[in-house]
Amino acid sequence: MGENVGPVCQRCGMYDRLTRLRAMTLLTQGQMLSAVSSATGISPSLLQDWQERPESLARSRTSTCPRCSLVKSTVEPRSDYAYLLGLYLGDGCISRQPPESKGVWKLRIICADAWPGLLKECKRAMLAVRPGNSATGVQRQGCVEVVSYSKHWPCLFPQHGPGRKHERAIELESWQQEIVTNYPGDFARGLFHSDGCRLTNRIRRPLKDGDRWYEYPRYLFVNRSTDIHRLCGEALDRLGVAWRFSKPTTISVARREAVARLDEFVGPKY
Ligand SMILES: [Zn+2]
Repeated sequence: MGENVGPVCQRCGMYDRLTRLRAMTLLTQGQMLSAVSSATGISPSLLQDWQERPESLARSRTSTCPRCSLVKSTVEPRSDYAYLLGLYLGDGCISRQPPESKGVWKLRIICADAWPGLLKECKRAMLAVRPGNSATGVQRQGCVEVVSYSKHWPCLFPQHGPGRKHERAIELESWQQEIVTNYPGDFARGLFHSDGCRLTNRIRRPLKDGDRWYEYPRYLFVNRSTDIHRLCGEALDRLGVAWRFSKPTTISVARREAVARLDEFVGPKY
């Protein structure tokens, strides 16, 4: 006889909401721990913990993941998720934390010291998407790593995988595509905040009465993944922002009206 295992997320090992609800209902009906355990697949010791310390179950509720539940839902708030996805695809990574048996993952996004506003935004978006977890800044040379630990980061960013992003295919799942389609400005903001910049070009025009200098702002997005270029280009298209490749790795937004339009969503790093 195989062991009866309840619906549990393959990525993070959490029991879904319906399984937990079913277990608590059986327990409150007075069923034995062993019977509830074999009916749900949840270990008797975990059931006993929930029974004796209901706050531990409440805690597991705040750590509920919309992608692990039996009935899957989208990740909320969608605008914050779109921004965080842009940051993650631009310059983030997810790694398993020791000991592996705990199933905890670290999401890390690097923010340069020069942009404290970006650091704040990044932390805020992480906390909005995973309110049950914390987000902290770890000072490194010239930058701050914003890190957050959760069992669910791989559920929320299924693009996670071995190797560097430009060496593997990056494809969005349908629920992510739906968010990116609806929040292209937030997504582009995340991409440009992590892997892009808004800079001022100065060009010299020689005129009869001497040289004249012109300044104009432009955006650059520099990344080595052709899939991430495509996602960035699609978001810019949706926003009505004209763009082109200025180098094989660089998307450039330079036309005056395109820069003005992108300023509505991105703006300079601060
Ligand atoms: Zn999950």
